[in-house]
Amino acid sequence: MPFPSDLPVVDHHCHLSPTGEGVAAARRFRSAGGTHLFLATQNYTGRPPSSIADYAEQFEVTERLGRQIQDEVGVGVYSVVAPYPIDLVHVSSSIGLPAALDLQRSALDLAGRWVREHRAVAIGEVGRPHFEVDAATRAACDAVFRHALAVARDADCPAVVHCEDLDAGGYRAIAELGRAAGLPAHRLIKHYARHYVAESDRAGIAPSFLARRELVDRALADPGPWFLETDFLDDPARPGAVLDLATVPRRARAIAERSSGAAEQLRVPFVDAIRQVYGWAPEIGKGARP
Ligand SMILES: [Zn+2]
Repeated sequence: MPFPSDLPVVDHHCHLSPTGEGVAAARRFRSAGGTHLFLATQNYTGRPPSSIADYAEQFEVTERLGRQIQDEVGVGVYSVVAPYPIDLVHVSSSIGLPAALDLQRSALDLAGRWVREHRAVAIGEVGRPHFEVDAATRAACDAVFRHALAVARDADCPAVVHCEDLDAGGYRAIAELGRAAGLPAHRLIKHYARHYVAESDRAGIAPSFLARRELVDRALADPGPWFLETDFLDDPARPGAVLDLATVPRRARAIAERSSGAAEQLRVPFVDAIRQVYGWAPEIGKGARP
């Protein structure tokens, strides 16, 4: 079966670093058949940002790397920016919780400006620690999460949520947080979804499924919206911590070989879900957002 020539192949969540494999990883993605990446920002310095200037610099590194990948590799790159939810936990020990809280809010406001200026397509990752923290830290994290949802509402963009694994009740609870902040569920994405949860149990939230073979096979019959991601970390110190960046195109090729019907089902994660959640869709040969 030939791969449909008009079908983009999209990794909906990865991280790349100028000090990691960077552009070379994007080249591997392209060689495997990938066309577009959603590039989530990350802390590139090895220590949590402790000022708004640190965050601005971090977002700019993401943007520069994305531009370099578009220019040199021909893969379309969409930036996703926000202060990482765990930063607050780390930085509060040095600057104190109130200052850390202020910094997170300002960094989220900056991320919202980036979306309004079309320098980023979503606020992410935002959410809460997936591990236990003390009550005061938890309360601060929850306040930051609520602010993040409000920023996404104001910027009229999706929020890419980092949180614990969700079951039907968990999806409902996140949808409720969005509703309280004025952000509709169709603008919420559960990133790093490791387990299949049926569409009827997701409260309108789109899961970004980790592109493991069994999970992709289950998702294929799902009406969506859902995405595929590797959450590639580009950290040479942690090889194999997450899926390799070539995984989504490899899976897509393998699925397309089965039948043309199977290939058509890939329009759900690669085109339709993006249109439903983001409001536009990637096109072959077009890097930047339409
Ligand atoms: Zn991530």
